[in-house]
Amino acid sequence: MTVPFSRPLIDQAVIAEVNDCLSNTGWLTSGPKVLALENEVRKLTGAAAVVCVNSWTSGAMLMLRWWGLGPGDEVIIPAYTYSATALCALNIGAKVVMVDVGDDFNLDPGKILAAITPRTKAIIPVDIGGWMADYDAIFEAVKSAEARAQFQPQSPEQEKLGRILVLADAAHSIGAQYKGRDCGVCADVSVLSFHSVKNITTGEGGAVCLHLPQPFDNAAEYLFLKAFALNGQTKSAFEKNQPGAWRYDIVAQGLKANMPDICAAIGLAQIRRYKDELLPERRRIFQQYQAGFENTDWAILPNWQDESGSIASCHLYMLRIQNASESARDALIQRISEQGVGVNVHYIPMPMLTLFKNLDYRIADYPNTYDLYKNEISLPIYNGLSQKQIDFVIETIIVHSS
Ligand SMILES: *Cc1c(COP(=O)(O)O)cnc(C)c1O
Repeated sequence: MTVPFSRPLIDQAVIAEVNDCLSNTGWLTSGPKVLALENEVRKLTGAAAVVCVNSWTSGAMLMLRWWGLGPGDEVIIPAYTYSATALCALNIGAKVVMVDVGDDFNLDPGKILAAITPRTKAIIPVDIGGWMADYDAIFEAVKSAEARAQFQPQSPEQEKLGRILVLADAAHSIGAQYKGRDCGVCADVSVLSFHSVKNITTGEGGAVCLHLPQPFDNAAEYLFLKAFALNGQTKSAFEKNQPGAWRYDIVAQGLKANMPDICAAIGLAQIRRYKDELLPERRRIFQQYQAGFENTDWAILPNWQDESGSIASCHLYMLRIQNASESARDALIQRISEQGVGVNVHYIPMPMLTLFKNLDYRIADYPNTYDLYKNEISLPIYNGLSQKQIDFVIETIIVHSS
């Protein structure tokens, strides 16, 4: 039996929705499907406004540009994440300050204050695997007198907020909750990813969820960001296509980050079934893995639910093998792969990758990140995994770990 690590959900509903673009609306770039998807994401997350974009990475860059971030500025991120969390800031000339993570794989809030300098403009916590970061503790740090005293606003938006921006990397966490609050309303801005391996996909894509406090007007920011994500152009091709509506303006130096309708159609067919069908199915698979490994003496099980009302979106199943060294873990992956089970490691810490080594980040500075990475294995978890496949994964891991 083979079990691929990941597989996007492409069923009749998805095909019908994409076909609607190709055969009926005839509209391929941003148009009615994008607006419908933005509306579904807004309903699911409770965010005040949602802007669909062509990737998480460009959505995060868009928001950091909107925030006025640039050369000389610093952004705090966890060392344990996918590199896009850093690249969105590096690509607009800012510096990233990495901090170590706690045992739940997420940014350790206790490390934030020491990482803040007068140049710090934003923090990007990551909801790893769909288990949300500790936003109460993160806001406590950025709103502390100590942090506010160091904050030096350099744009109208920074003046307005008067503190460090909390931009959530919610690439994994659509549908998750932190203390009973939905992903999308736990940070100032939460950026989702709809990349092909994520819980909901548009092939490539993402969504920016706005939850900016007073005196920001989220509806007005939405209108600005729609233009800002379209080269700063006030009307999309769809809007210009209305009779007599040809005239437009370029109001800001924007990015080209809009989502095409043909992509939105894929996500639209999935998100309508997400809360009642697709997310519960993921959680069932996750719980089966938990039950499968909980009685072993070597498994460290991932977080997924607690009494405070937090619950994961179960994007990844991040198993850890107690006391395994990095090479023992790698050898285990080799044996499991030979049995036909696709597994992965999330993530190789950024300080171990060439780009970041060349920028002088050192893994020795992030000991907990390394300790989590060295014995981590991510198992297949996606809609459409059969019971036989789930059982086979559990059996294969148990046989080869013991
Ligand atoms: C997938 C991912 C991203 C990047 O998403 P794209 O849509 O591919 O740009 C960012 N952060 C994390 C944690 C991710 O897993």
